[in-house]
Amino acid sequence: MLTLPESASLETRVSLVREALNTASEGRYPAPRLIAVTKTHAPEVFLPLADMGVDTIGENRVQEIREKLPVLADRFQVHMIGRLQTNKVKYIMEGVSMIQSLDRMELALEIDRQAQKHQVTMPVLVEISPAGEKQKCGLPPEELEQFLRNVAPLQGLRVQGLMAVMPLDADEETLARLFQNMRTLFERTREKMIPGIEMKELSMGMSHDFLLAARYGATMVRIGSLLFGKRNYPAPS
Ligand SMILES: *Cc1c(COP(=O)(O)O)cnc(C)c1O
Repeated sequence: MLTLPESASLETRVSLVREALNTASEGRYPAPRLIAVTKTHAPEVFLPLADMGVDTIGENRVQEIREKLPVLADRFQVHMIGRLQTNKVKYIMEGVSMIQSLDRMELALEIDRQAQKHQVTMPVLVEISPAGEKQKCGLPPEELEQFLRNVAPLQGLRVQGLMAVMPLDADEETLARLFQNMRTLFERTREKMIPGIEMKELSMGMSHDFLLAARYGATMVRIGSLLFGKRNYPAPS
């Protein structure tokens, strides 16, 4: 785990995280892209990222995305990384450039419907539940192939890969096994070459486990608290 001094500036944090990513993935995989998870943080906290070459942020609440979009839209791409209710899909169709948390057919159908209505094609990642049924979010790995075959014909969305959130209580050994499983699932699925499905992104790794994720071939890591600490964006009343 990477720990940074409390006093480190955002710029220092970004460059240390990048350095660590390069080292962790070295020799095996290209270094993953850094997605800054800006949920709960006000725009003035993270706007400087735009000058540090961080061009993509992750948010997990529809309402917060809508509030922040006017400030963000021309500086960052926004990825939706949190659980998405079908009745809220319509609010983010034009604001986000990827939905990383597609985990059920009902949601795929609604994204498809809204995308066609807004005349866009929404890039999505399929969220996998790496530890199986112990987790409430994500598709079980054994259901992935059939899910992809069902989703492939939908014109409004384009699957580009997989996403996973690891269990928070897992030890290092378990995490390593789960990251390896995700990488294997990703590669095996890519080899199946399912028509209409791309397998080029593997989004895994957060503040506490991103070095392991990089070692096991993540193409994107999603990092929040290590960059921003725990300062809070006003909660909805
Ligand atoms: C909050 C969040 C992150 C970032 O977590 P940190 O531990 O703050 O780095 C990554 N992915 C998802 C899905 C999240 O909700």
